[in-house]
Amino acid sequence: MNTGSDMLWLALVVLGGSLAVALTLVGVLLLRLREVEQRIPEKESGHESVLDRLLENEFRLRTIIESEPECVKLQAEDGTVLEINPAGLRLVDANQPADIIGRKIYSVVAPEYIEIYRENMRRVFAGEAVVYEFRAITLTNRIRWMETHAAPLRDARGHIYALLGITRDITEHKQAEEQARRHQTELARVARLSTMGEMATGIAHELNQPLSAIANFSRGCIRRLRSGEITTEEMIEPLVEVCEQAERAGEILRHVRDFVRKSELKTKPMDINQIVRAVVKFTEHEARHHRTMMHLQLDPKLPKVEADSIMIEQVICNLVRNAVEAMAEANSPRREITIRTHLFGNDAIEIEIGDTGPGIDEAIMDQVFDQFFTTKPDGVGMGLSISRSIIESHGGHVRAESGGTGASFRFTLPTSEGQTTKHERADSLHS
Ligand code: ADP
Repeated sequence: MNTGSDMLWLALVVLGGSLAVALTLVGVLLLRLREVEQRIPEKESGHESVLDRLLENEFRLRTIIESEPECVKLQAEDGTVLEINPAGLRLVDANQPADIIGRKIYSVVAPEYIEIYRENMRRVFAGEAVVYEFRAITLTNRIRWMETHAAPLRDARGHIYALLGITRDITEHKQAEEQARRHQTELARVARLSTMGEMATGIAHELNQPLSAIANFSRGCIRRLRSGEITTEEMIEPLVEVCEQAERAGEILRHVRDFVRKSELKTKPMDINQIVRAVVKFTEHEARHHRTMMHLQLDPKLPKVEADSIMIEQVICNLVRNAVEAMAEANSPRREITIRTHLFGNDAIEIEIGDTGPGIDEAIMDQVFDQFFTTKPDGVGMGLSISRSIIESHGGHVRAESGGTGASFRFTLPTSEGQTTKHERADSLHS
């Protein structure tokens, strides 16, 4: 074999080897490609099953929500209705979802409740779950009472993107409650009238006697003076009689006053915050009716006060009603009442009822506590005067202030501990 053919053989072997390596590589690549090709549909079918499951879940949730007998709705932060179920559509008298979805919920909230509704929405979007009542005017102008349980709805990152509300119609319940309240008010009014009537008849009867005697003695004196048949000496006896009878009349009135004061005051250690909350409960309805919001800033760590709770309720109630009326009469754009309680010195608690109304004119500031002083067309002018008597009979003080934002009434009540130490001190002085 010559070297030329050797070289050719060598070249052929090298070429064959490289070809084999190249073919193997291509084969491997093709195999990989097939594998990848096979895997793609696998992945796709994986995606599809996740999607299916999601759709199935959504369908299931939708079926539950749509067959839910209560109204379930989602609202955006500005009040836009995003979703509502068929029960919700029926609740607002909507014929189809488009009648309410995309519209603001405020279009079915009574005007005096819009601000309260907004405040509750703000609380939900701040992360709170709240329950609130409001009056609704449906799309066909029917007036209904509603109660909503609302909670924030968060996305995967925890961001609140909607309000989830479950609302039900509580109109019948409200009407029954209102009827019971009216009935109770009427009963209290009749009871008060009959007690006052009885007392007035009793006082008139008691006073009639000394007054008739005064009239008779005076008439006798005048007659005898006119006819000139009486001496100065003889005048003295009937005039003494007149004085005595007048004093008796005064005594009767004093008794009545003492009776009214003593018989009605039944004090015991009371939680002032509890009294405030009780008043808020029964004045809330009236406040809402006049679009007034009530805020409480109650110090939770207060000692007990020595009080007749019914009487103190009456005082706070008078002050709250006056604030509601003042703001409604002045048509104040912002209507808020804040009730605060805090410690006052070592042995008293101060209760403050502040409003955002027109305030009290400096010229009448000194008269507001006077009996029969009123600036209202149908006012009686007894509320503040009675309130002051009640507070003073408890050993407290009341004062009115008028600043830039409205009027504020503050009164103090002695704490039970303060009262005890005072009594102990008084007892030790007497012994
Ligand atoms: P009435 O409510 O029958 O008028 P009150 O003794 O309760 O009797 O009140 C006397 C007056 O005090 C009211 O007519 C009003 O002029 C004034 N007043 C009381 N509270 C307020 C208030 N919060 N804001 C403005 N004025 C008030």
